[in-house]
Amino acid sequence: MTKPGLKPKLDIESGPFILPPLPYDEGALAPIISARTVGLHYGKHHKGYVDKLNDLVKETPFATMSLEEVVENTAGQAKHSKIFNNAAQAWNHAFYWNSLSPDASMPGAALGKAIDRDFGGMDTLKKHLVALATDHFASGWAWLIVQDKKLALIDTPDAHTPMTEGATCLLTIDVWEHAYYLDRQNVRKDYVAGVVDRLLNWTAASANFDKTL
Ligand code: FE
Repeated sequence: MTKPGLKPKLDIESGPFILPPLPYDEGALAPIISARTVGLHYGKHHKGYVDKLNDLVKETPFATMSLEEVVENTAGQAKHSKIFNNAAQAWNHAFYWNSLSPDASMPGAALGKAIDRDFGGMDTLKKHLVALATDHFASGWAWLIVQDKKLALIDTPDAHTPMTEGATCLLTIDVWEHAYYLDRQNVRKDYVAGVVDRLLNWTAASANFDKTL
């Protein structure tokens, strides 16, 4: 495992899909998420999805598609479920790392207004997001999305992503046990509450939101 403070070395030689670099050092999210958890989550789990995807798409039409196109073209098709699972997890994880930041951030003007309009304010959004992510049954994801021009919070099981339902994703929280178990054991709520309180990247969420206007 890479030491905290050092960027992991990227493996980009094995296929068309690459493991994008972490946007910060592995130790940057501590103490909410430890360097050890980020190192394993990014360097083993996320990398594993990318590597497996590259194996699965060899000599198929999916090998020349973008990652988003693979996800969209395999969603809901039983015969492509392995490719979907690995492609969606590769996309979800890249999106997750960019949903977090060690730097304090605030929503931009347009997103801030939409949060007031659709949730009655940031405190209510955060309360609902913590509850949704904590209560999600088994493995999956909690998301802030835009659908039909409104903000919404939804959870998805396993590798599923709102991208395939016509939604624009603004932020996500990984609630698979590998995201928190080393740090928090079974107390998912402590991880989720820490992420929502301290680590969500509202600058990235605002940039995603502004593209929907
Ligand atoms: Fe994960």
